[in-house]
Amino acid sequence: MAEGKIIKALSGFYYVLSEGKLFQCRGRGVFRAQKITPLVGDDVVFEATSPMEGYIMKVHERKNELVRPPIANVDQAVLVFSAVEPDFSAVLLDRFLVLIESKNIRPLIVVNKMDLLTDKTKQVVEAYIHDYRRIGYDVIETSTVENSGVEQLIPYFSNKTSVFAGQSGVGKSSLLNAIRPDLQLKTNDISHHLGRGKHTTRHVELIEIGEGLVADTPGFSALEFNDIEENQLPTCFPEFVERSDECKFRGCTHIAEPKCAVKKALEAGEIPSYRYDHYVRFMEEIKERKTRY
Ligand code: GDP
Ligand code: ZN
Repeated sequence: MAEGKIIKALSGFYYVLSEGKLFQCRGRGVFRAQKITPLVGDDVVFEATSPMEGYIMKVHERKNELVRPPIANVDQAVLVFSAVEPDFSAVLLDRFLVLIESKNIRPLIVVNKMDLLTDKTKQVVEAYIHDYRRIGYDVIETSTVENSGVEQLIPYFSNKTSVFAGQSGVGKSSLLNAIRPDLQLKTNDISHHLGRGKHTTRHVELIEIGEGLVADTPGFSALEFNDIEENQLPTCFPEFVERSDECKFRGCTHIAEPKCAVKKALEAGEIPSYRYDHYVRFMEEIKERKTRY
């Protein structure tokens, strides 16, 4: 028996990557008894029946699971935003960050299209970048047009399963192609070969980038907080978590409680007001959802 990771699922076959080798596998035995559908990203136990084939015997417990695209055990989300076209949106970034933090996925922020900034817009965007770095997030500035910053991303993929996320048009595909120029070619080849039309369901596949695996389809297309509880929201803001021990009340929601360390930091200008405003807005959204059901 060997250990591996499913990197592709197609026509009833699961492609398991194990120690640099790919095995075309079917499910069998113990694994069927588990009554779960294997997902791309699943860590599995399999039995090799030939140097390229095998049977999946067991699916290991998942750390997390995305619905769109269907993928398990995501370690990192690469949040791609553009500096302009579309304009950088802190509220959208905070929304993504909350969803990602709530699934225990590590965020990496990429601000793309840096080449399009003018002196004036540059100041605004750089100020945001500074704020997010101060919270502790890694922020990489890129331009696929000037091919700048792209290589800085590679080490972040090491030993992880990553998924790209972000609005359409920010440059996710361009970044993936800049990192792996062979990729677009390969995808075109496959669809041409199989004669697939536009209406065929898109299969997610993990591709090797540097020392890691990256989903070739972006994730987090739904941005509602359906799975997030009221008491979970404060834990999705690292700069609040850092200070909450200093709040007078345990389980402080940092909204109406007196002697709140988060509000004190807000008043002192240590927490940007827009971050706090987004927090309050998201909290209302979660509460509203509750009363609706
Ligand atoms: P996606 O929808 O997030 O995958 O975005 P795409 O990769 O399809 O890019 C959307 C548009 O932005 C395309 O017209 C790209 O050529 C353009 N684009 C991507 N990256 C950059 C960049 O760094 N600078 C500029 N100026 N344009 C870019
Ligand atoms: Zn508080």
